[in-house]
Amino acid sequence: MSSYVGRFAPSPTGPLHFGSLIAALASYLDAKHHDGLWLLRIEDLDPPRELESAPKQIMSQLHACGLHWDQDVLFQHSRLDAYQSYLDTLSTVTYPCICPRSPSAYAGTCRMRTFSQTKTPYAIRLKTHKKPIEIADLFLGKQTFDNDLGDFIIKRKDGLFAYQLAVIIDDVYQKINHVIRGVDLLESTPRQIIIAQQLNLPEPTYGHIRLAVNPSGQKLSKQSHALEIDTSSPLVLLRQALIALGQDTQNRAISVTQLLTSAVRSWDRSLLPQTPFIFTGN
Ligand SMILES: [Zn+2]
Repeated sequence: MSSYVGRFAPSPTGPLHFGSLIAALASYLDAKHHDGLWLLRIEDLDPPRELESAPKQIMSQLHACGLHWDQDVLFQHSRLDAYQSYLDTLSTVTYPCICPRSPSAYAGTCRMRTFSQTKTPYAIRLKTHKKPIEIADLFLGKQTFDNDLGDFIIKRKDGLFAYQLAVIIDDVYQKINHVIRGVDLLESTPRQIIIAQQLNLPEPTYGHIRLAVNPSGQKLSKQSHALEIDTSSPLVLLRQALIALGQDTQNRAISVTQLLTSAVRSWDRSLLPQTPFIFTGN
């Protein structure tokens, strides 16, 4: 039995579109090719952005594509106490911030503030150091991030936990050691590593895949009006996703199970495309 544990961790902001399907499929194939487990985590941390129907839709879309996960689904809304207890252990490296949200790097204005002298509401920031962060990405090779991110928010002023904090805590909780996801999340990786280092948590191995874009070069997303995948012909859909991942499309397979079994066997990381796949479907 391999010790590989991978995952797919969508935010339930809507049903899966083609871009999220290829991320799901890549993480599934990489896990199964290495005899690993593939877990599903619903990252429902930000209710105002979420659709109540989305978790169910996502799960039925995955099942329709034959992407059955191992173990129970983990919902992040059930993990708030765990995030808070980890946050409590960071009290010496965090501080309250009352600045308005700003898109530029944070200058550290509130660094000297203390919790006891600051009235709520405030955001909580993690103090960062200037050391560059390096990862050995499975697909992109060595990635170095100059750590000029500034101190970043790990709990928001509205009381919601930041994505970065929850993700690394749950990766450890679920014993995930391989994170295969879209390259759009690459920039959040150094933040997750900084948190892991501060909490003395193990860092998973990362692999970021090129995403699909629409013909005008925009990433497929809810914002770019990507349509939900049509699971009425899962074989067609999966073949298209395999093409997007540069893999053999197994034209002889006549069922989803056959196609996936064969795709798991022949999964080849070195075939992943170096440029984004242009999706003309919708
Ligand atoms: Zn501040």
